[in-house]
Amino acid sequence: MLYYKFSDYLKKRYSAKVYKLPVNLPVTCPNRDGAISTCGCIFCGEEGAGFENLSPSMTVSEQLRINAEYIKAKYKPEKFIIYFQNFSNTYLPLEDFKNYITEACVEVEDLVAIYISTRPDCIYEEQLDFLNYVKNTYKIDILLELGLQTVNYKTLKFLNRGHTLAEFINAVVLINKYGMESCAHYIVDLPNDDIEDVIEGAKIISALRVNQVKCHSLYILKNTILGDMYEKQLIKPVELEEYIERIISFLEYLNPEIVVQRLIGRAPEERTLFCNWGISWWKIRDIIEDKMIKENRYQGKYFNYLNGVKNIGSK
Ligand code: SF4
Repeated sequence: MLYYKFSDYLKKRYSAKVYKLPVNLPVTCPNRDGAISTCGCIFCGEEGAGFENLSPSMTVSEQLRINAEYIKAKYKPEKFIIYFQNFSNTYLPLEDFKNYITEACVEVEDLVAIYISTRPDCIYEEQLDFLNYVKNTYKIDILLELGLQTVNYKTLKFLNRGHTLAEFINAVVLINKYGMESCAHYIVDLPNDDIEDVIEGAKIISALRVNQVKCHSLYILKNTILGDMYEKQLIKPVELEEYIERIISFLEYLNPEIVVQRLIGRAPEERTLFCNWGISWWKIRDIIEDKMIKENRYQGKYFNYLNGVKNIGSK
């Protein structure tokens, strides 16, 4: 196994063809509404992290119905994951959060999981109590997707994330305590990071027993602070070869039991100043996989650093 692909995980876990149903809630983000900052992360566009969702002015049920009809006609799925994707989906009053989640669970038959994307500093115990109730009542998996992006706290500051590594650690510890799952979003080619930061990221994610990762390349959107820096030549994206080396090294240090949702990011071309070196994401994925096969590199190759010194020397 080169790496633990999300498609393999879905087959193993649910023995069925599973598809995600995206939902867009009318939420914002504390890093945009002034609670932490009004600027947002330097790479974040007006739409938050999602590009493919329906309008948040539609009800949760309406969005789910429309998306389910479309996906059923196109892919013939057997089961569904509801995916709250955009902005910080736990950054809203608890009662509203409960109502949205309940509405979603009631709407979708053949539901196997709910994935909720949010910031690490927007997780608290009362929400997790409720999600635990949902998990047990509907017999589904609950996974919290957390934007981490890097473990280098200086780079986190440069990105204006508004949180440090500590908030991420705290969120994962809480999620683990409640028996739920987590996924870390990670940008492998941040200009201020080097390959050592990326390897440390894989090690920290593994040590914390995060369940899944979603890796991104750094795409530069128009009308963002990062876009402005790019146009003024204050930052320079890393070369594709460097990205490939970083992502493979990341995988080599990652616990082989961690599911890899993505190896590379995607963004609509018309909204970007720079995205994936002008190459389709799947071609880059193929280049990464070919290189891994050729050089005998695989996820977990150097996962020998936990559980004490007895493993030292096995590299
Ligand atoms: S935390 Fe997410 S939604 Fe908020 S500013 Fe950053 S990227 Fe945008």
